[in-house]
Amino acid sequence: MRLLLIEDEDGIAKRIERALTGAGYLVERSSDGEDGWFRGDSENFDAVILDLGLPQLDGLQILKRWRRADRHMPVLILTARGSWMERVEGIDAGADDYLPKPFQMEELLARLRALLRRAAGSADSVLRTGSVTLDTRQMTVTVDGAAIDFSQLEFRLLSYLMHHRGRVISQLELTEHVYGEDIERDSNAVEVLIARVRRKLGVDLIKTRRGFGYTIPADERLALDAED
Ligand code: CA
Repeated sequence: MRLLLIEDEDGIAKRIERALTGAGYLVERSSDGEDGWFRGDSENFDAVILDLGLPQLDGLQILKRWRRADRHMPVLILTARGSWMERVEGIDAGADDYLPKPFQMEELLARLRALLRRAAGSADSVLRTGSVTLDTRQMTVTVDGAAIDFSQLEFRLLSYLMHHRGRVISQLELTEHVYGEDIERDSNAVEVLIARVRRKLGVDLIKTRRGFGYTIPADERLALDAED
């Protein structure tokens, strides 16, 4: 896997580069916007890690230019802490994911793995984690090949968690994505729904991160550690 890292701050760039190289990726680095844009435009990368604040040409402009030119490689943007405007603009410009600074390298690696998996699996509508499969087109769930009867809400919840494997999802976010606007924000409906989905699956797939939310670990071995 070949990655392009566009980051002007030398210290951060070196740390990222070291982590990526350690994780087995081939990393090309660019430290200014014009050069970074050109490389992403003229070479093929499996994914790009793009800082937004860059000299010459800022990250948003780079991303917009690539997308206009039909360059569709997955792009993970690095945003300033707490800058929700940057995140919104980045996503609107075609970013596939974002990571606010400062971040843990482990999280960067996890998000990258997820992006690459998504990009690679775009032809396959079936998401798999260990013995659990979720068919996003047929809207079906199986465990060890056996179909499980899921309601629409249960499916929506599991689907959201499966699509965001490796990320801890807050109860509020789940509520918004599963129920939409028509429910009290402090309702405990998600907790009840999670319990039902866990019971139906019968495997320890959905983890609780106390105080943060719920997650299906990106690593399948971790996801199903209760099985063996
Ligand atoms: Ca910067």
